[in-house]
Amino acid sequence: MSDLAGRTSLVTGATSGIGRAVAELLAQHGADVVIHGRDPRRGAEVVESISANGGAARFVAADLGDSRDVERLAREAGPVDILVNNAGIYEFASTLATTAESVDRHFAINARAPFQLVAALVPHMIEQNYGAIVNISSGAATTVMPAGAVYGASKAALDVFTHYWASEFGAHGIRVNAVASGPVRTLGTESMLAAAGDAMDNTTARGRIGDPAEIAAVVLFLVQSGSSYVNGAIVAANGGRRTALPS
Ligand code: NAP
Repeated sequence: MSDLAGRTSLVTGATSGIGRAVAELLAQHGADVVIHGRDPRRGAEVVESISANGGAARFVAADLGDSRDVERLAREAGPVDILVNNAGIYEFASTLATTAESVDRHFAINARAPFQLVAALVPHMIEQNYGAIVNISSGAATTVMPAGAVYGASKAALDVFTHYWASEFGAHGIRVNAVASGPVRTLGTESMLAAAGDAMDNTTARGRIGDPAEIAAVVLFLVQSGSSYVNGAIVAANGGRRTALPS
């Protein structure tokens, strides 16, 4: 039997892309999954797909840009054993084209919301001396891209949280890790990838864009007992970096 049987997990941004793949995989491995997102239609679709495969899921809608709504999400999710902070936005723009509102949105959704969820959900994990938290970060936190300084900075904040939380909660049976994803084909990146054509494939050593399932597989490893000594790690799942030097 999977070691996730009887575990409850909350996956934010599970109505699309990487979050959906994570939610479906955790459910396949026996976890009860709280599906979070904003779109109730896509939320219901994910719940149905998990139920059709014999899994257990329910949907909670919340706007992570609104701190009150994040608190409500934590309450409605109830006690969870596994938290996957996946929901995120990326409005790739140059610094001169980025508004103050966009800066606030990135930090609220990509960093403040995970912070609030951890603050609300960790006390139960401490009580039971068990918990697994995975933050979905990005190579953009550590690699300079043509645009998107604010996105990269918000993910760098999430990386720093990962290190602090791993240290603060490690002695309480809680492991906190991150997956630094490379480019992956999702609803959110569809138009960006179409515009980039082959150029994006060629940024990775594997010569191709990733699939959400390839990120979900790493998350699964990080929440299972096989990774019991992995804590505070930022695991790159990006197909490998290509040299930036001329060959
Ligand atoms: P996506 O397809 O655009 O899906 C984003 C998810 O986040 C959706 O479920 C969406 O919910 C939710 N979300 C967005 N804004 C929200 C808000 N204000 N409140 C609540 N939920 C919100 O994204 P993705 O490409 O799978 O990316 C998922 C994560 O991976 C993000 O953190 C992203 O930064 C990271 N990442 C992605 C890539 C990539 O190439 N795809 C690369 C590196 C890192 P609704 O649609 O229901 O509102």
